[in-house]
Amino acid sequence: MEQNYFDFIICGGGASGLLLLKALREDNYFDNYSVLLIEKEVKNKNDRTWCFWESSSDTFDDLLTKKWSNAEFRSKGFKKNFDLAPLKYKMLRSSKFYKLIQSNHLKTKNTFHLQTEIKEIKTKKNETKVITEKGNFQSKRVFNSLYNPEPLLHQKKYPVLRQHFVGWFIKTKKPQFDPGKILFMDFDIPQEKETRFLYVLPIKTNYALVEYTLFSENLLENESYEKGIKSYLESKGIYDYIIEEREKGNIPMTCFPFDKFNSNSLLHIGTAGGWTKASTGFTFMNTIRNINSLIIFLKTKKKLNSFKIKNRFNFYDLLFLDVLSRYNSEGSKLFSRMFDKNPPLRIFRFLDGKTSLSEEIKIMASFNVNQKLWFVKAFLQRLF
Ligand SMILES: Cc1cc2nc3c(=O)[nH]c(=O)nc-3n(C[C@H](O)[C@H](O)[C@H](O)COP(=O)(O)OP(=O)(O)OC[C@H]3O[C@@H](n4cnc5c(N)ncnc54)[C@H](O)[C@@H]3O)c2cc1C
Repeated sequence: MEQNYFDFIICGGGASGLLLLKALREDNYFDNYSVLLIEKEVKNKNDRTWCFWESSSDTFDDLLTKKWSNAEFRSKGFKKNFDLAPLKYKMLRSSKFYKLIQSNHLKTKNTFHLQTEIKEIKTKKNETKVITEKGNFQSKRVFNSLYNPEPLLHQKKYPVLRQHFVGWFIKTKKPQFDPGKILFMDFDIPQEKETRFLYVLPIKTNYALVEYTLFSENLLENESYEKGIKSYLESKGIYDYIIEEREKGNIPMTCFPFDKFNSNSLLHIGTAGGWTKASTGFTFMNTIRNINSLIIFLKTKKKLNSFKIKNRFNFYDLLFLDVLSRYNSEGSKLFSRMFDKNPPLRIFRFLDGKTSLSEEIKIMASFNVNQKLWFVKAFLQRLF
């Protein structure tokens, strides 16, 4: 590539990199801005199944594998079925998403794509240099989605849990699932002193994604997740099935301030930017929301490190993670109290950062006395 200066450089063409590219190329304001996207892989696989909820239809609706209007929450001795309206829970598989953005936006005017490995990103005051195997590139605005877990290991201030899971897409011989309803969380499985649950997304009566998921510190051996799925299916009388695909994930849940690595000319985005919802691991919708704000921000031409997305919901996440990491075996009870004492839609809106202060007080009031004390203790420890 002859050109080595670009108005924008996007490092990593996964979810956040491609969502940013799409947003830039769909806004006429940026028509004359050159954008370079650098990604090491050929992105065409179903390496992710993104699920999220939203009330409106959006541009990805045509690509969805499925959307649901009803959900269920379960834990030992407790069950709640609920209507998600006005929300829909949506499943988007990554290969369709990659294909859409590659065909609609990667070959447009002023857009450049380089498939190579990024070796280093060096940021100086007003310019950032991206060093790759195929040359070095500079910009006053570089967006980096290459996730580096290293800084998390050398600190204790912010607990780091992970949402880790193995999922199977299974086809059963007999109809076994209700395709109208997701099982959002089923904690009615051995917790093994951690926070463990099953997550079931039925696509047809005989076809579903079943995931064995943990919110905890340490990963398991692969066979433990698989055993968890198998015994869950057996507990529901499901023996006769074939596994069509497998999926594995390990998503950081932390309030570590990744934004401290931003500079005038470098902004971390996606998981690398701390855009993962710390209390749940959901990232996809957060990324869409943050990119909408980023596009407005870029028009102000302010320095990238003045782009801020923190609000009071980050503080709630911080307290929740403090409690969940300290009392990891109690996760099932914490979530159960929330779903028992609140209309589930309030919880979804809370997770989206859209509740009012009075609703947030109601959510906090859902916890029992002991649980409330844990939160008060976490709050005081964060204050002093
Ligand atoms: C299996 C799985 C399922 C998930 N499901 C959900 C879900 O249902 N809902 C939800 O909200 N979130 C989900 N997540 C979390 C999150 O939405 C995804 O991880 C999402 O892909 C994060 O986007 P990103 O841009 O930060 O990272 P990525 O999508 O991982 O993009 C980073 C890109 O950088 C590239 N890259 C890395 N290193 C280099 C290098 N040195 N040089 C060049 N390129 C490089 C990678 O190839 C990759 O394409 C899931 C995560 C996983 C792993």
